[in-house]
Amino acid sequence: MKGMFDLTGKVAIVTGGNGGIGLGMARGLGSAGATVVVAGRNAAKSAAAVKELAALGATASQIEVDVCSEAAVRSMVAAAVDRHGRLDILINNAGINVRKPPHEMALSEWTRVIETNLTSAYLCSHAAYPHMKQAGAGKVVNIGSMMSIFGASFTPAYAASKGGIVQFTRVCATAWARDNIQVNAVLPGWIDTDLTIQARQQVPGLHERILARTPADRWGTPDDLAGIAVFLCGRGSDFVTGTAIPVDGGYSVQG
Ligand code: NDP
Repeated sequence: MKGMFDLTGKVAIVTGGNGGIGLGMARGLGSAGATVVVAGRNAAKSAAAVKELAALGATASQIEVDVCSEAAVRSMVAAAVDRHGRLDILINNAGINVRKPPHEMALSEWTRVIETNLTSAYLCSHAAYPHMKQAGAGKVVNIGSMMSIFGASFTPAYAASKGGIVQFTRVCATAWARDNIQVNAVLPGWIDTDLTIQARQQVPGLHERILARTPADRWGTPDDLAGIAVFLCGRGSDFVTGTAIPVDGGYSVQG
């Protein structure tokens, strides 16, 4: 069974892997033997993440990238392959939110969120695909949200981007199944990260509402996402593709 979850020899890019959920997933992948490329804008944060991964015994390196830039994304993939010789795993995790009702959201805010959360997944997947196809295998994991399923009055662009991520996942899964590339989405529940610290500051009563609705009776931590990342990137999930798996302490099934 161990081989099902062994990522030794695999090379993974994790966008936004320098903090929060991305780093939680990177810790999982690195602990399972993968070489992890941490890709983010903030070089100091990425350096700290690489150091943390190295302390776990993982091989890790960093690449500075703005996932909204096609040129930067292409360079990121090329640099990862140059440096580590291959690309097996792509985690499309980088994301932001702007919390406002639809009638108050400016076009520039809408565009920034859609480009960061959704267009980036297209750009990164598009750049990664030829390498995975050539290798005869690949794993892509796209990070959705509870907002892939539900609406909330203050998340117009975010919910649109996260709904889109699930549909984009289904399309890539069907397009690339014959190339032995599995594409799945993970829908985290409410996880304690920089992103949700902001949310709790901006949305009164949010913290208590989340706790009351989460059967597990707690917020998630980034490490709660490590196991699903290892599963979806390992041999054990070779016949799993096009899914959108909640990791939410039961939030999405609470009646
Ligand atoms: P964080 O704010 O902690 O992390 C976001 C990451 O995205 C950072 O590492 C950041 O790196 C990176 N990032 C943002 N914009 C860009 C960009 N333009 N180019 C490159 N990297 C970028 O948030 P989370 O860990 O909470 O969020 C990670 C993902 O999980 C997001 O997609 C989010 O929507 C999703 N999610 C989070 C939930 C939660 O409860 N926390 C729930 C459901 C989904 P840098 O600082 O270097 O720019």
